[in-house]
Amino acid sequence: MYNYIQHYINGQWVDSTGNETIDVINPATEQKIGEISSGTEEDLDKAVQAARDAFPAFSQTTQEERAALLDRIADEYEKRKDKFIEVIMEELGSPINFTTNVQYQMGLNHFRTAAKLVRDFAFTEQRENSFIQKDAIGVAGLITPWNFPTNQASTKLASAFAAGSTVVLKPSTETPFAAVLLTEVFEAAGVPKGVFNLVNGTGSTIGNGISNHPNIDFVSFTGSGGVGTKIMENGAQDIKKVSLELGGKSPIVVLDDADVDYAAKTAISNIAGNTGQVCTAGTRALVPESMHDDFIQAIKNHISEYPVGDPKDESTFTGPQVSEDQWKTVQDYIQKGLDSEATLVTGGAGKPEGLETGYYSKLTVFTNVKPEDTIAQEEIFGPVLSIITYKDLDEAIDIANGTIYGLAGYVVGNDPEALTKTARSLRSGRIVVNNEKADFTAPFGGFGQSGIGREWGDYGIEEFLEPKTIVGLPS
Ligand code: NAP
Ligand code: MG
Repeated sequence: MYNYIQHYINGQWVDSTGNETIDVINPATEQKIGEISSGTEEDLDKAVQAARDAFPAFSQTTQEERAALLDRIADEYEKRKDKFIEVIMEELGSPINFTTNVQYQMGLNHFRTAAKLVRDFAFTEQRENSFIQKDAIGVAGLITPWNFPTNQASTKLASAFAAGSTVVLKPSTETPFAAVLLTEVFEAAGVPKGVFNLVNGTGSTIGNGISNHPNIDFVSFTGSGGVGTKIMENGAQDIKKVSLELGGKSPIVVLDDADVDYAAKTAISNIAGNTGQVCTAGTRALVPESMHDDFIQAIKNHISEYPVGDPKDESTFTGPQVSEDQWKTVQDYIQKGLDSEATLVTGGAGKPEGLETGYYSKLTVFTNVKPEDTIAQEEIFGPVLSIITYKDLDEAIDIANGTIYGLAGYVVGNDPEALTKTARSLRSGRIVVNNEKADFTAPFGGFGQSGIGREWGDYGIEEFLEPKTIVGLPS
């Protein structure tokens, strides 16, 4: 059992001022694995005050000091590799290979990348007659979801520390234990007291409290669009800066010269990875009409290479949904697909055979989906793929750009001209050509309703800075 019923405020583990706790469930077993405290507004106030008090000194540390701190954080993070993997597997139900190679690794990459970038980051600049100085923004409130427990917290934290901002973190109540481990990392690495504060609790109390707090200067949020809207509304009251990393309905454009097996496997892995609970997942496969039948056959041939099952089993590719609520949401969408004129290729409603315990869904693929169908427009956040056919590349690009979102896009094929035209025409923050690996120095974020602002690398650091122009400075 993981029992972490304290918050971390001003460099110490402290009791909550309230008595309520929240159970944390392992979605693969449906069993309780521990509990956290349901923090109060008073707890939040103390954490914000600690961050406020720590800000003047931390914001004046040198770039080299902050780079060294980030390196020590990365070292301490690495020392806890096995613990991170165990905790994320348990709280999220994330399969062991994905947890090791993606979940654990992404969190680490953000700290290492920020350490490297902050050493050379230009915090000042001389232009014409102005001297530009970038000051840390102040106290940041960080609100994170459950689908990548260390990645999402780490990108925000690495950028904040690089910039010299102090923070209060509220992780998701679904996956709070990875943040407890991060807190242990920061303690061991010598993060000064008050620079990092952890308050556990619900979105409606702590999350809402952060976006309303008069002493918080910036809210960095990752999660759903609905909550993003509330955070903007709250932040608008005192002109708080907000950065929002929201959902997506990203296209995979399969070019007519693509290898059909490679394209089908790219599509399956997009919905199977992290059980489809990925904001950047490619969930709409746009396939040339002439390739359709071969593509469907390739999906059928390869789907069994992505087994759904116990996260602890090395051969498992896809685990359960994070919670019963998320499972029901995914099931509702699958039902909407079944009720539409789309054709079911594989999967469907209910749990896979033999997996009655745990919030498991079937890998589900629909074809003959129309671009305007609900399952082609709304984020499902589960292992559901919608296949849409197109006549020519211009139509594919129009369909690809035809949602309210714009977080990611994928292109699969060979012709350099078509790859370039497609990649450069997609209205999204991140385009991946032929499954190229991620670049942690490059910006991450969305067009349209996928969000506001950018994370990762130097763009991420910029979010935690306020540029100040000084003219007339004596030289
Ligand atoms: P969510 O409700 O947006 O939750 C994200 C975070 O915001 C959690 O820490 C949550 O707290 C907190 N929160 C909830 N209400 C809040 C409020 N009024 N003010 C401030 N913070 C608040 O997302 P979810 O329920 O976990 O997932 C729902 C859907 O969001 C998914 O189906 C998916 O479509 C989308 N989503 C997107 C991403 C992404 O990476 N872009 C990640 C996760 C989910 P609690 O601990 O109380 O939940
Ligand atoms: Mg859980």
